[in-house]
Amino acid sequence: MSSVNDIRSAYLGFYQKNGHEIVASSPLVPRNDPTLMFTNAGMVQFKDYFTGRSAAPYPRATTSQKCVRAGGKHNDLDNVGYTARHHTFFEMLGNFSFGDYFKERAIELAWTLVTKEFGLAKDKLCVTVYHDDEEAFGLWKKIAGLSEDKIIRIATSDNFWQMGDTGPCGPCSEIFFDHGDHIPGGPPGSPNEDGDRFIEIWNLVFMQFEQIAPGNRVPLPRPSIDTGMGLERVAAVMQGVHDNYDIDLFKALIRASVEATGVPAEGANRASHRIIADHLRATSFLIADGVLPSNEGRGYVLRRIMRRAMRHAHLLGAADPLMWRLVPALIREMGQAYPELLRAEALITETLRLEEIRFRRTLARGLTLLDDATGSLTSGATLDGETAFKLYDTYGFPLDLTQDALRARGIAVDTDAFQTAMQRQKAEARANWSGSGDTATETVWFSLRDKLGATEFLGYSAEAAEGQVL
Ligand code: ATP
Ligand code: MG
Ligand code: MG
Ligand code: MG
Repeated sequence: MSSVNDIRSAYLGFYQKNGHEIVASSPLVPRNDPTLMFTNAGMVQFKDYFTGRSAAPYPRATTSQKCVRAGGKHNDLDNVGYTARHHTFFEMLGNFSFGDYFKERAIELAWTLVTKEFGLAKDKLCVTVYHDDEEAFGLWKKIAGLSEDKIIRIATSDNFWQMGDTGPCGPCSEIFFDHGDHIPGGPPGSPNEDGDRFIEIWNLVFMQFEQIAPGNRVPLPRPSIDTGMGLERVAAVMQGVHDNYDIDLFKALIRASVEATGVPAEGANRASHRIIADHLRATSFLIADGVLPSNEGRGYVLRRIMRRAMRHAHLLGAADPLMWRLVPALIREMGQAYPELLRAEALITETLRLEEIRFRRTLARGLTLLDDATGSLTSGATLDGETAFKLYDTYGFPLDLTQDALRARGIAVDTDAFQTAMQRQKAEARANWSGSGDTATETVWFSLRDKLGATEFLGYSAEAAEGQVL
């Protein structure tokens, strides 16, 4: 059986053998794009080469890129633990051509990799093409020998990639693995919702146009290639399991969580262990790349991920902070490929420990409040915004944590009323400050307050200090 670490090396080795430079993953906080919250694809670090803003130092590259999709445009947070194929943090394997080879060679290499190097059965694979991309359709037929019913034309934006409103763009082809019809379908929220039979493993982007303005698209003089393959998904296929959480890497992390809590990963507790394992990776890698929990921006996304995991640790009955105790297992699995984890081990451990100590001060009481408020509600009901806001403001429950806590019971949250309560509290705080006449001080105060959180800044009791203001 190939381990995740073997598969990563095999991918990079294959493309290196085929003339690609192995380039290290860039950090999760993008250096070259202030509009992007987290690096969410392999191409991010190469953007300027694709747009032509700077010259690529090599014509071809290959990477295993750390990605987080838990904020901004790509947000998979609500899928984690509920689908077999989504993580908040994952590794994207990719190969890139900067104006060098194009569609034909990209398809040739990809097909050789999946069927020869990785040994996947051809009859389990199918591909998609953008509906008018006749060239790709013909190439899949010729190179892969796929029958026409295995080359599916798709007309939606899923198969047309754009960097932004302007800039490079082009059609994509995606490779899917068919896990077979023994996987029963299921209703929304079930493990087999949306696409768990046919799993998308690889996306090949053919950058062949430049969008100059809306409605004005011209061919690029030197088209480029950008691909992204989910390492955990291909590992599941290669290890003969359906579910990403059953691959060697996740099994080791879940084992650590089971050992630390003494609770087996069965029944309702299975999802908790999976979420803990997933969020352990996301939080540790984010901290290693310099993000710390806070009440705004990236730091607040980190805090939300941490606290979601910590609620699950609590559900498992953990009597003491749990997450920090799992860091050694993560380092054992991933420290060799990502030495930054080792360098940041002390910071990761302390940050996780302190955040969990802090959240545990209010977590149990917040959950009691939530139970009291929803005890009489049944599936299809909505929790009022005032209670959700109180949980947020007084007990440190991010809105999405409350939503996640109620999801299994089919209860929604009145998010409009939540926002109204938030605005009202901000307005009240402002009103209490009016009349000093010192607008400069007020401006500074309000910006600090927004940054640090109202109650923290006012130095209330430990309980109130858990409140946050975005
Ligand atoms: P999906 O439709 O399954 O959400 P996607 O089309 O959003 O995937 P792409 O943006 O094409 O994904 O990313 C390239 C590859 O990265 C995908 O083919 C998949 O293998 C992997 N990938 C994407 N999102 C995730 C995730 N949240 N967790 C794990 N792997 C992912
Ligand atoms: Mg997606
Ligand atoms: Mg997709
Ligand atoms: Mg895709």
